[in-house]
Amino acid sequence: MTKPTEIRSHVLANLDHYLAELDKQLTAQGGTVVYLRGADEVADYLELLTREREIPVPGGAESLRRHAERIEPGVEAYLRGESPADADTESLELADGALRISAAAFLIADAGAICLTGEHPGGTGPKIQVVVAGIEKVLPRMRDLAVFLPLLPSDTTRFLTGPRRAGELDGPEELCLILVDGGRSELLAKERRDLLRCVRCGACLPGRAGGGGVDCPVGIDTEGLPLRLREEAPLEVGGWKFRLWGYVMRKPRLYEFAGQMLRAFWREEWGLPAPPAKSFRQAWREGKK
Ligand code: SF4
Repeated sequence: MTKPTEIRSHVLANLDHYLAELDKQLTAQGGTVVYLRGADEVADYLELLTREREIPVPGGAESLRRHAERIEPGVEAYLRGESPADADTESLELADGALRISAAAFLIADAGAICLTGEHPGGTGPKIQVVVAGIEKVLPRMRDLAVFLPLLPSDTTRFLTGPRRAGELDGPEELCLILVDGGRSELLAKERRDLLRCVRCGACLPGRAGGGGVDCPVGIDTEGLPLRLREEAPLEVGGWKFRLWGYVMRKPRLYEFAGQMLRAFWREEWGLPAPPAKSFRQAWREGKK
């Protein structure tokens, strides 16, 4: 087992312990930790926060909702066969630095620290910094970053260990970490936890995979996993639409055919996010050639 796989497996087996340690440390350093169930609750929280603090939001609540869904797609995205690396990690900054909403790359339990990548902070940092992170993002120790940071495509890294202290020139005045379950605890309980080892290095993104297949640094079967998850998807979710969806998800060829039909006959007036031009499997296959 490689070092990254070993560390990620250890974290998932002891997630409660490391989340409690992170919460205790970050709270002691002046941060706030909030636990939410999914992107909907994140959007509600952000809407309430911006309303209470009178922070204008271009595009209103809907744009907050879209941002929450982009940075926190939850494990349902994987069940749809999307790459774990597809989530958007770009920050949203509002009202000239009054509020910045970012996605964490890692959380470090022993230091109560948040690691952000791809950030271009500039100035003295936002007044309120909100960071959204799936519960699986935690790493035990600061030194584990030496193993994981080199795997990420971004070379810009920023650490937050709490709000700005007296005498410090940079950092937010308030720091809030939102820890999101997003279906992860359920995935953990069903022995499909290997997917949660993902560190979003992007190696399995279409076009990045080499001719010999994807070399996932944490040992995830990136080709077989979406299919395996669909095979295990529960059929009795509720309502004929969900049962039909469950049936289609269990038949790989039918699923691919249904995806092609959906792309061919998609209508904007349905008011739903448009499907990507190619399925993840199709793009992945092309990337291997
Ligand atoms: S290669 Fe592995 S760790 Fe990297 S994004 Fe894909 S699944 Fe995640």
